[in-house]
Amino acid sequence: MPRIPEDILERIRDATDIVDVVSEHVHLGKKGRNFFGLCPFHDEKSPSFSVNPDRQIYHCFGCEVGGNVFKFLQEIDRITFMEAVKFLAERTGINLPERSGPSREEADSADRLYRANDLAQKYFHHMLLNDDAGTEAREYLQARRLESETIERFGIGYATPGWDGLLKAAGRRDLPPQIMEQAGLALQRQSGNGHYDRFRDRVTFPIANLSNRTIAFGARALQPDQEPKYLNSPETPIYHKGRVLYGLADTRDAVRRRDSVIVVEGYMDLISLVQAGIEHVAATSGTALTEDHCRTLARYAHKVVLLFDGDAAGSTAAMRGLEVILSTKIDARVVSLPPEHDPDTFVLEHGPDTLLARAENAQSVLDFYLQQLAQHHDLSSVEGKSRAVETFKPLLTKLDKPQDATRRDLLLREVSQRLSIDEQALREEVKASVRHPRGPRRIENEPLKAPLPDPPKLELEFIGLLLNFPQYIPDTAREFAPETLTDPRVQALCRMLFNRHAESKAIDVGMMINELEDNTLSRLLTKCEAEGFDEEQSEQQWRDYLRHFQKKSNQARIDAARQALGQAVASNDEDEIARISTELVQLNRQRQAFVAEQNS
Ligand SMILES: [Zn+2]
Repeated sequence: MPRIPEDILERIRDATDIVDVVSEHVHLGKKGRNFFGLCPFHDEKSPSFSVNPDRQIYHCFGCEVGGNVFKFLQEIDRITFMEAVKFLAERTGINLPERSGPSREEADSADRLYRANDLAQKYFHHMLLNDDAGTEAREYLQARRLESETIERFGIGYATPGWDGLLKAAGRRDLPPQIMEQAGLALQRQSGNGHYDRFRDRVTFPIANLSNRTIAFGARALQPDQEPKYLNSPETPIYHKGRVLYGLADTRDAVRRRDSVIVVEGYMDLISLVQAGIEHVAATSGTALTEDHCRTLARYAHKVVLLFDGDAAGSTAAMRGLEVILSTKIDARVVSLPPEHDPDTFVLEHGPDTLLARAENAQSVLDFYLQQLAQHHDLSSVEGKSRAVETFKPLLTKLDKPQDATRRDLLLREVSQRLSIDEQALREEVKASVRHPRGPRRIENEPLKAPLPDPPKLELEFIGLLLNFPQYIPDTAREFAPETLTDPRVQALCRMLFNRHAESKAIDVGMMINELEDNTLSRLLTKCEAEGFDEEQSEQQWRDYLRHFQKKSNQARIDAARQALGQAVASNDEDEIARISTELVQLNRQRQAFVAEQNS
């Protein structure tokens, strides 16, 4: 049971739009009253995942998951109910009652890391715009032709050359050096005494997560001899560079609208494209494209175009990114710029439309990848070929799930043709390395328990009817025992409805889901909810359901009693025989009443 009062949960939920929250993960399109998209919880090609904005719930008609916004976050981010509540409370600015929970300390420390990054972002930005020390940085950005709106939009800043400017500002706001260190913004002195600012004399680019909170920085050196040219925040409890895509918090609406995203390598690439009017862009920064990146991108767009600088296309990092994306189902393409260009200079010289046209006609990732392989290995020699195969093998072995079979076959065929290798031989080789995988396989999902069969459809419909027309609940509670239903899960739902009614709580699917710890139940609940009913016929339907279950239950009890009677007779247990006979008389009377009612 949640420890947070229901009225606060309700306020948080009212202040949140489930469509927004789901949209951060699923590409949604509107169809009638509802939104539909590809289910993030199962693999599918046509959208069966629906979000109902009126009731603020989601339901998948394919895998039948469902729930409210808290449930969605729990499932998609693998967090607890409390964490989901905290996340949304923070997002909506609703204060939770002070109460020490188990993850309180963690939440506090994450909160301080966010505050530290937020402060740094404001501090750097202020220094760039207003401080004398920022002159050189301003000149640099001007030389890169960044307009002041762009600088504003992306919160670009400047870290001054001093050793503790940010630390001092943080100290004044009750953020001790230890927190600044944890947030990746300060370093401990070698001597062990005291801290100093990590970023000095650099132009800073705040990196935001999809909730639009600054979680890290990328920073570019201003002096030509300053090393490294680009310095990133280290990984922290709130920043995982393999997960976050730079700029996407800002550009995702454009990405969603175009159903397409151009992926570039650095902050400046992204910023200059956006400034040039190409808004559907995201950037990996300081890392090759990861599976997490791909998953995120796939939620916003069906089409991904990787844009490489001319000289970067064949790099190991780029090749690794290509392999990652090849192992997914994403429709990905590659544009490789001429050697002398990066996205910024290219757009400047040829204009945004030329770039868009290139993106439109881009080469498929597989073509590009194989072309790169051919460039790196002498495919006319046996050794060259076998080295190319070695490079390619990890990707093929990654596609080892049954649902990957078609993709794997296609790749095998393409590769064997392109490298003129016997397809069967390649197949054998890949098979051999699948049998001896390197290292333990990553566990993607918790082991599945054998699912219980679905409850009888009529029982679900009955609960659905009560949910849609709560006015029948009082009478139902009076006349009807939940045990009359056969499925224990539906019984539990029925009991819950009765209890909520008895406690004068709202009959609201969204809120009820919070009370359910069992996933199957909340799945069932949204399924019940989704049943359509006709208001005019609802009373008759309700009566019919009640009678139907009562009759069935009566018959089941008669059957059971008869069987028990047989056993009692066999073992000559007279007391038992007497008890069961009395029971049977009552049950039969009840049955006759049903029959009479039906005939009247
Ligand atoms: Zn699904």
